[in-house]
Amino acid sequence: MSTGERIGVVGAGIVGLAVARRVAEVRPGAAITVIDKEDAVAVHQTGHNSGVAHAGLYYQPGSLKAELCRRGMGLLKALCEERGLPYDECGKLVVARDASEIERLREIERRATENGVPGLRWLEGQTQLQTVEPNVVGVAAVHSPVTAIVDFRAVAEAFADDVRTAGGRLLLGRAVTAIQPSTSEVRVTAGGEELAFDRVILCAGLQSDRVARLAGDADGPAIVPFRGEYLRLKDGHTDLVKGLIYPVPDPAFPFLGVHFTRRVGGGLDIGPNAVLAFAREGYSFGRVVPRDLAATLTYPGFRKMATKYWKTGLKEMRGSVAPGVMVREAQSFVPALRREDVERAPAGVRAQAIDPDGGLVDDFRINHVGRVVAVRNAPSPAATSSLAIAEHVVGLAFS
Ligand SMILES: Cc1cc2nc3c(=O)[nH]c(=O)nc-3n(C[C@H](O)[C@H](O)[C@H](O)COP(=O)(O)OP(=O)(O)OC[C@H]3O[C@@H](n4cnc5c(N)ncnc54)[C@H](O)[C@@H]3O)c2cc1C
Repeated sequence: MSTGERIGVVGAGIVGLAVARRVAEVRPGAAITVIDKEDAVAVHQTGHNSGVAHAGLYYQPGSLKAELCRRGMGLLKALCEERGLPYDECGKLVVARDASEIERLREIERRATENGVPGLRWLEGQTQLQTVEPNVVGVAAVHSPVTAIVDFRAVAEAFADDVRTAGGRLLLGRAVTAIQPSTSEVRVTAGGEELAFDRVILCAGLQSDRVARLAGDADGPAIVPFRGEYLRLKDGHTDLVKGLIYPVPDPAFPFLGVHFTRRVGGGLDIGPNAVLAFAREGYSFGRVVPRDLAATLTYPGFRKMATKYWKTGLKEMRGSVAPGVMVREAQSFVPALRREDVERAPAGVRAQAIDPDGGLVDDFRINHVGRVVAVRNAPSPAATSSLAIAEHVVGLAFS
């Protein structure tokens, strides 16, 4: 039965596609249109990440991240199994390198337990750690055997197929340049053409603030792009670790620290670091978009954050120029790693939302203004959580 509703979704990353798929599930017959400025799906964050299905270890209990990651991981696993997409529970260790990191590791264990992460184990001492990862060095670790690796691009493509099968359309290669909500509809200009919708959901990743502002949403938080660079183990050296190995992260930052990331194709990467990017879609050090750089540098929230964390920022930049810095970081928990065994691998860019007061927005943030719902902050683990984020967002849109 057709509901006759016209629903627009901006962004064909994993979140936008999961949202469109969810609309098709709960509003059968709605006319769904997904719009993206790129010619293919999953071109930005969705296609450039670590490919880890997170189990929900780190997140503040009660936060949207904690809730939607746990639910999203279960939904993602079921979907991958149903579709025959890769989903490998290779497991993960979070390693305390010395006694000074034990307290923070205990806090991760506490949060993970409260978040209901299954199968969690505390490992004490070198011998126990090496039963899981023979080449790791540390004093204690939390082991999550259900943490998995996936191919998020393939998952997003499966979502796009579902949207098309349900009668939805994907308008690719069309940048959204204007959004005019009124009491009766929302007019969206995409690729120069004006389209009318009853409701619009914005999932624009690295451009989420700009696209939300087009629709009249609040100015802040603004997106500041942070490039995440990876190194890759050369052929013949990929058996150095079995699964995923992470350091204990610095609680001041929303990033997890340089880690060993096994890939579904069999490769092994190290990264990502977190380097301020001079372009929203700046996948290399030399890419500068003056409009993006000026937006970052003139944003009061960025200036406040930079005053506080400039030392960390400079360290990350040094690591970007000299891969040896990232190698040394990774050697602090896997000393058998050798500089000559790694080469550079493609980078990703994270959309980090920063509030006007300089606070790094940690949790997912979703705003609802009239007929428009705007996903303003969907960083890691949003790929893992995408199916649960979609349930939440679509629930809001039709509330
Ligand atoms: C380095 C890195 C590592 C990560 N590791 C993990 C991980 O291991 N596990 C995990 O769960 N998450 C991880 N993440 C996070 C995850 O990738 C993102 O949270 C997720 O992909 C966000 O999806 P999205 O659809 O919101 O954004 P995106 O994939 O960035 O999609 C947004 C889309 O909006 C489109 N768009 C923007 N502006 C416009 C416009 N004006 N008009 C039309 N279209 C527009 C873009 O073209 C893009 O296709 C990582 C991210 C990075 C960068």
